[in-house]
Amino acid sequence: MRKKIVAGNWKMNTLPAEGIKLAKEVISKSGKVPGEVELIIIPPFTHLTEIAKLTSGTRVGVGTQNCAQWKSGAYTGEVSAAMIQALGAGYVIIGHSERREYFGETSTQLLEKIRIALEHQLTPIYCCGEKLIEREAGNHFAVVKQQIEESLFPLEANEMASVVIAYEPVWAIGTGKTATSDQAQEMHQHIRQLLIQRYGAELANEISILYGGSCKPSNAAEIFSKPDVDGGLIGGASLVADDFIAIAKSF
Ligand code: PEP
Repeated sequence: MRKKIVAGNWKMNTLPAEGIKLAKEVISKSGKVPGEVELIIIPPFTHLTEIAKLTSGTRVGVGTQNCAQWKSGAYTGEVSAAMIQALGAGYVIIGHSERREYFGETSTQLLEKIRIALEHQLTPIYCCGEKLIEREAGNHFAVVKQQIEESLFPLEANEMASVVIAYEPVWAIGTGKTATSDQAQEMHQHIRQLLIQRYGAELANEISILYGGSCKPSNAAEIFSKPDVDGGLIGGASLVADDFIAIAKSF
């Protein structure tokens, strides 16, 4: 059985006190979510120490929005996988479209980040997804295939088994424009087929593929009802505890 996962990417939002309040609210309301759904909150680095202490021993996991591709050293401004692991986080988002777009992250770099995250027992949540112009040109399947092939397929099967994928069409992120559940399903199915070809059906069927892009309480149930959608990576709606919890209850 694949894991059902709902992860909240807070991005560069909340001051520490606000983030701590939000984390406490999510933890206190997490009992309303069916036990088989994995809940993850992903705050800014600045709140990680405090929030990791709060989530410790609860059913809520914690992750970060990025990690460096290097182990340690003279990389001003970077945060290593070892530092993240030492604070008790279990997950790291890698390859979010905002990092690809604003920080020029390349597929080679993302592969290095995934590898270093795995070496430190962090679960990478690897994001892929096409831009509007690519979808309009009919290239969306090819774009996502390339993102998967370049940053995931060099991994061995035992490494791939620990990766979570998030399909996030760039045109749906923070825009209020959600992919239809059919659009999400056909891309998730496409990704799973690619995984089957590379790693075989047994492993491919164990990998959770999340949908991300303007997911909210009003549309989550429809999207999560699709057979290849195993949960969501939630941006804006994860900043409101009740909305985040309502989304996680939507399976
Ligand atoms: C995201 O940034 O991963 C995301 C899905 O954002 P939003 O839910 O706000 O579209």
